[in-house]
Amino acid sequence: MVSFNFKDKVVIITGAGSGIGRATAIEFAKSGAFVYLIDKSEKTLIETAHKIKDMGKNAAYVKVDVSIWEEVEKMANLIKKEQGRIDVLVNNAGIASTNKASWVMPTLEIDIKEWKGVLATNLNGQFFCAKAVIPIMMKQRSGNIVNVSSSVAFTGAVGSVAYCASKAGVIGLTRHLARELGPYNIKVNCIAPGLILTPMQEGIPEEAINEIVRRIPLRRAGTAEDVARIILFLSCEELYMTGQTIIIDGGNFMH
Ligand code: NAD
Repeated sequence: MVSFNFKDKVVIITGAGSGIGRATAIEFAKSGAFVYLIDKSEKTLIETAHKIKDMGKNAAYVKVDVSIWEEVEKMANLIKKEQGRIDVLVNNAGIASTNKASWVMPTLEIDIKEWKGVLATNLNGQFFCAKAVIPIMMKQRSGNIVNVSSSVAFTGAVGSVAYCASKAGVIGLTRHLARELGPYNIKVNCIAPGLILTPMQEGIPEEAINEIVRRIPLRRAGTAEDVARIILFLSCEELYMTGQTIIIDGGNFMH
């Protein structure tokens, strides 16, 4: 198992109440970071915070809807006041659809509200969080931002036009920010997970999961911990890479 040292680093993780965000928060806490858990669900945030405190590690939580700029700005100001610095932002909060009925729906049946809702969380949310922390990172002349896209940004996926478009947007956002912020020693990278078994994938029939797994070279679906390890790697201060997107899908898509 690879081990990382984030002692005394201040890390923000959005979507930390569940799945990949929760696993990433736990890994950062184990590695010595002070973690700010961010999610729109207070109940699940508290659960993650308890798991970390039970390990004897440090975490704080702030209930924030990342699609609302004012809430994001307030969060960044609070952390700046409490810690004076922000070393890592993991832009992980995301939704497959605004409601279960709209997930896997043909483009012509998707209403405009659904399109706007998915873009608001998945793309606006990542832009808002980056915009809020960048001034602090610029002043420190250091920082790592990890954006969470999806392998469907490359492949497309039947029935999720807003999700695919939002996740492709995240890759463009990453590349732009990497160019602009490189001279300030701020690294901005991205991950594109494939099938990862988290609450987001609950409800996908087992047969459909098995069908995908049969095509994956590593012959299994990913876990939240598989993804967390790559996020921690991309959050290391010593990184000589920026603007890149790493696909984490067991080798399913190669380009
Ligand atoms: P999840 O549903 O388990 O967790 C997502 C978390 O984000 C939840 O706790 C939710 O409350 C939070 N969230 C949603 N909207 C929010 C908002 N507006 N403000 C604040 N928090 C919000 O999902 P997951 O599988 O852990 O997904 C994490 C990220 O990984 C997402 O961006 C997702 O698109 C991406 N991803 C997941 C998979 C997969 O197979 N699970 C594949 C590719 C990409």
